[in-house]
Amino acid sequence: MSLRRKLGLEILAEKYSYDEDPQYGHTSAQKIPDRWVPTTCGYCSVGCGMFIGVKDGRAVTVRGNPNHPVNLGKLCPKGLSEHYTLEAPNRAKHPLLRRKGKLVPVSWDEALDTMVEKFRATQERYGPDALGVISTGQLVTEEFYTLGKLVQLGFGTKNYDGNTTLCMASAVSGYKRSFGSDGPPGAYEDLQKADVIFLIGANIADNHPILCQHLEANPRKTLIVADPRVTKTAMMADLFLPLKPRSDIALLNGLMHVLIQTGQIDCEYVTNHTTGFASLVKFVEKYTPAQVAQITGLSEDLILKTAYLIGNAQAAFIGWTMGVNHSTQGAETVNAINNLALITGNVGRTGASPFSITGQCNAMGTREAGFTSSLPGYRKFENAEDRNELARLWKIDAHRIPSSRGLAYPDIVEGAVSKKIRALWIIATNPIVSFPNLDVLKQGLETLDFLVVQDGFHPTPTTELADLVLPAAIWGEKEGTYTNSERRVSKVNRAVAPPGDAKSDFDIFLTLADKLGCRDELFPGWTCPVHAFEEWKHVSQGRLCDYSGLTYELLEQHHGIQWPFPEGTTEIGTTRLYADGRFPTEDGKAKLFCIEWTPFPEQPNQQFPFVLNTGRTVEHWHTRTKTGQVPILERMSPNAWLEMNTRDAQSLQLKPHDRVDVISRRGRVRNVELRVTEIVAPGQVFMPFHFAETNANQVTQSAFDPISREPNYKQCAVSVQLSGSAKQERGNDTQHRKTSMGVSQ
Ligand code: SF4
Repeated sequence: MSLRRKLGLEILAEKYSYDEDPQYGHTSAQKIPDRWVPTTCGYCSVGCGMFIGVKDGRAVTVRGNPNHPVNLGKLCPKGLSEHYTLEAPNRAKHPLLRRKGKLVPVSWDEALDTMVEKFRATQERYGPDALGVISTGQLVTEEFYTLGKLVQLGFGTKNYDGNTTLCMASAVSGYKRSFGSDGPPGAYEDLQKADVIFLIGANIADNHPILCQHLEANPRKTLIVADPRVTKTAMMADLFLPLKPRSDIALLNGLMHVLIQTGQIDCEYVTNHTTGFASLVKFVEKYTPAQVAQITGLSEDLILKTAYLIGNAQAAFIGWTMGVNHSTQGAETVNAINNLALITGNVGRTGASPFSITGQCNAMGTREAGFTSSLPGYRKFENAEDRNELARLWKIDAHRIPSSRGLAYPDIVEGAVSKKIRALWIIATNPIVSFPNLDVLKQGLETLDFLVVQDGFHPTPTTELADLVLPAAIWGEKEGTYTNSERRVSKVNRAVAPPGDAKSDFDIFLTLADKLGCRDELFPGWTCPVHAFEEWKHVSQGRLCDYSGLTYELLEQHHGIQWPFPEGTTEIGTTRLYADGRFPTEDGKAKLFCIEWTPFPEQPNQQFPFVLNTGRTVEHWHTRTKTGQVPILERMSPNAWLEMNTRDAQSLQLKPHDRVDVISRRGRVRNVELRVTEIVAPGQVFMPFHFAETNANQVTQSAFDPISREPNYKQCAVSVQLSGSAKQERGNDTQHRKTSMGVSQ
């Protein structure tokens, strides 16, 4: 700070002056833009509508869109400060190629020629599937659709997946198994219309904050929250179920046991629209309230009360997020949730839905169009009819479409370790912070012959390892659509130009197609995202996620529209899937599954006595590549912390704000601030996963759901001890006290 400023002679009048905005009235003069660009938030899957204020070619502010049905003008702290990400100091601006160990700027031509040459050489030598690709949930749907075709048909590798496998693959697999297709059946409106809302492993107050607005708009609801931790969402509950970690399947089975025993089920719905009920009845017999109380740690009373509330609800909404998905039994837990919804007839009606609240702004878009775990339009790899149909639409030989899914994300990493994968292209994700059991991932990446990282930011812990960095445009710099958790397709617009030489992912993909020589075949005449959108509409026609009636103009006009929206649709309103009770399975019925509860894989013991739970905080996003550069968010939440119960802290003689290390069989997170709190139960500790400097994934384990391949981030056994520096300080303190008391030599 200058001396003039210190003396109060410089008051930065220009910076802090106010003026009249024609639309919003008295406001900071700096934040009065020349124009407002409507768009959709690029962080989470809530999908809030917003405007970016642009002045002199720069994004100077954002405002919530008051007419957008998702958020009615409100934004959470991340959305409210999103424009800062565009000018973050760590934006990637130029293609960088590693030469003699250093990343040096090169032209786009050289960068992409090198990439194609290296990938081709790898594939020629080791086979087409030696190339792996890991993308994201952050691109627009038009880019996902383009990328899927480029990877699978252009590069010809099937080993393509997204970081979405790390957050919602269990929901996808669970929906597919129960209902025959992915796709959340309900809508946000259901949060306002349900009389019982049951949230399991879903801390929406931190992770999807604007959804709380929909809860608040429902005065007659009873909110039940099941979570091992007293989250901010748990604090809003009418009934809180503090169940033991990963005992959710037992709870769900116990609820079904009570509902069946007391006849609080929808027999007509079960008979007409489900299969497997007789087996389920027999199976849940053993999940008596007493047995479930023992497994979950909940009282029998709480279990009975919850069953009573759900059984008597006119409409029950059952929502979940990562507390369910991040598990070796994630997909099966989703099946157990779907079971509960099905036997009580809570599917496809107003207020009634088993509802996966997904993570990233366009994780849904890649599920629909992406060509990763499904073929575009929720078609199945293993279904010849689906492959033939796509081949006809694309005018290609059907044999070029893989008949089985390639490696999922964790298996691509394993493939890199075992040298099955020799070259890797990572797009808009930062696995060095987000992937579990960091050491295994590092080993995989270090073994590769060639690593390309395409990102809007550099350096990140992952771009620093790359052989080639491709600088990409981000939210606010490109056009397309996102689909949110309730299947609402919203328009995303370009407000400003990307920095330096950065290009949109869409342009990068088309240029690569040019260099591969497949652009005319796969993307004939395409120059901008609307061309991909038009083809995608055609490809989705007649499918569950039918876009064929949508246009960019309609999406702008109505602030997003939910799919399905077939051509010729005139009415625009809330849509729900399976309202007619017909499911896209062979017999048109939903499947009930018998899901056995099993203890989580790594149980605590004497050496590692705590169960570590990881999660998020409202101020940050994923690995902080974006939010770590936003001053206001960083100031609110600058460091990771470890929550520990008061009793455990006392028994370890730890105090609030002590610096501690968290240790597992796989590694150690050093020097984390301790929070002593009743938010976590004795025997459990919690740590946010956003922070590269204190990376929770140094201790998490390589345990994955065998069905969805989603990691079991949520429970691993750890010990906690005072960190080296804190030990030293404490030693000095003790020494000092003893000296003061005259007992030291
Ligand atoms: S709730 Fe999600 S979509 Fe809405 S402003 Fe916050 S981060 Fe953006």
